[in-house]
Amino acid sequence: MRVPLLDLKPQYKALKKEIDEAITKVAETQQFILGPEVEKMEQAFCDYLKCKYAVGVSSGTDALLAALMAIDIKPGDEVIVPSYSFFATAGVVARLNAVPVFTDIDPVSFNIDPEEIKRKITRKTKAVIPVHLYGQCAEMDAIMEIAKANKIKVIEDAAQAIGTQYKDNRCAGTIGNIGCFSFFPSKNLGCFGDGGLVVTNDEALAKKLKILRMHGAEPKYHHKIIGGNFRIDAIQAAVLNVKLPFLNKWSEKRRRNAEAYNKQFAKVRLADTPGRITFDSRNPVLLPKAIYKPEKGPQPGEIPQLINYHIYNQYIIRVAKRDELRQFLTDNNISTEIYYPVPFHLQECFSYLGYKLGDFPYAEEAANTSIALPIYPELGKEQIEYVVNNIREFFDKQ
Ligand SMILES: *Cc1c(COP(=O)(O)O)cnc(C)c1O
Repeated sequence: MRVPLLDLKPQYKALKKEIDEAITKVAETQQFILGPEVEKMEQAFCDYLKCKYAVGVSSGTDALLAALMAIDIKPGDEVIVPSYSFFATAGVVARLNAVPVFTDIDPVSFNIDPEEIKRKITRKTKAVIPVHLYGQCAEMDAIMEIAKANKIKVIEDAAQAIGTQYKDNRCAGTIGNIGCFSFFPSKNLGCFGDGGLVVTNDEALAKKLKILRMHGAEPKYHHKIIGGNFRIDAIQAAVLNVKLPFLNKWSEKRRRNAEAYNKQFAKVRLADTPGRITFDSRNPVLLPKAIYKPEKGPQPGEIPQLINYHIYNQYIIRVAKRDELRQFLTDNNISTEIYYPVPFHLQECFSYLGYKLGDFPYAEEAANTSIALPIYPELGKEQIEYVVNNIREFFDKQ
């Protein structure tokens, strides 16, 4: 059996007729940049995410960059980011000559730890970028409270969290000042190239984002501010307009696959202590956890309430002999990926910031022990069983 990490072909096959028609329609109008398809897409995302304004942009990275520009991040400003995320989260801060200030993560959720944010705030802090990593929402209530008390802005990196919900069904990306999404093909909702989206409930920010998207021009050729070419193509919008109505169904399938993994993993010896795990041979695998209401726990007779509607952009397990396990799975035709092998504070390009090994133990541990298993919606039950059987075989041999 062969298990790819991601296979986009079945999804395309299922919607081929509609998507091909939508692309042809754009070709016939020859209106390739912005225009009616993009406006339709922006409205569709406002409805889906229950937010006031959506601005289609060229990528998730440009969504983050435009968001920081919209809130006037200037050289020397400090922006707090978790040390463990995709590079863009920190890269955009440095590109504006602002200072990325790294924090450790929560060992259970992989997301930024609100207490760490508090510790890092200085007079220079202008914003924080919580990342809803792997499809699970960061602790937004605590983060918003800290941000309000310290008058800093919150830019949500929701690139992996389109359709993720928080507590009372607020959508990830719509809770902070600005939310940023990516439609890179491997995200839960992918277009046919690069694409992204910025959302906000603030009219002035929405207006500014639209101006920034067109080199800061308003009107055309008159520039009060400096922007960039952050525009999205009409073809990408057309593809997204076809796909968006199916997103919830795909998220449900990912969640069911995660459930299937959890069940299969009953056969494997599991670790249950997150963070600074000493993986001994009796407890080799730590499963991802959806976070449940932590404050009180369920009252007698009450069903535990799910805080997060986790959409499993990735299903990440943590294991001690990660690289050996990965090789074993590769040898058995199972594709996996390491997200992210080097935390920001140990990246060569950020050495000028002066961090060192040991600064963020949880981020380092995640980088050393995490492995992403295939979780895409069309993955079969037998494939999941095959993956877990192989993992069990690997550890049985230890
Ligand atoms: C994918 C991703 C981005 C960047 O999105 P692109 O569309 O690839 O530019 C930013 N942040 C996170 C967390 C991501 O996963």
